[in-house]
Amino acid sequence: MAARKQFKVAVTKDSLVFASAHFITFPGHRCETLHGHNSRTRLVVEGGLDPEAYYVLDFSELKQLMKRLTDEIDHKVLLPLQNPKLQIREEGDTVTVAVGGKPRYVFPKADCALLPIPNTTVEMLAEYLAGRVSRALAPPEPLELQAIEVEVEENCDQ
Ligand SMILES: [Zn+2]
Repeated sequence: MAARKQFKVAVTKDSLVFASAHFITFPGHRCETLHGHNSRTRLVVEGGLDPEAYYVLDFSELKQLMKRLTDEIDHKVLLPLQNPKLQIREEGDTVTVAVGGKPRYVFPKADCALLPIPNTTVEMLAEYLAGRVSRALAPPEPLELQAIEVEVEENCDQ
């Protein structure tokens, strides 16, 4: 039996950019202060062709999906809920952040993106976005995706 052909489709666009504030924690007790980046995302999916449409996935749907996901974290403070060094508490309309038990920030909740990741590094942001893409494209979408890759590049305006 012949192997099915696989195709790679990349979505990368100037609109798939988000500006966000964050700080990451390092090994030990070191923690950055709050600062911002402009970041660009790139999505690559690999899979077999839809036998009727001759595409892997509808490209405009993929673009819309990525736009939706980047809009969710655009102009937000990105906070990692799974970081054991941070204590992040939601109280009404505010989010308080303590580092190593010491209060450090209070943000309006509407300005925060609380993410199920351990640190807001580009690696974890990429993994988080890839997970969201993967769930969004899960069955009943009738396709055989072999791979989903997401890249996040910081400081893309520099
Ligand atoms: Zn940074």
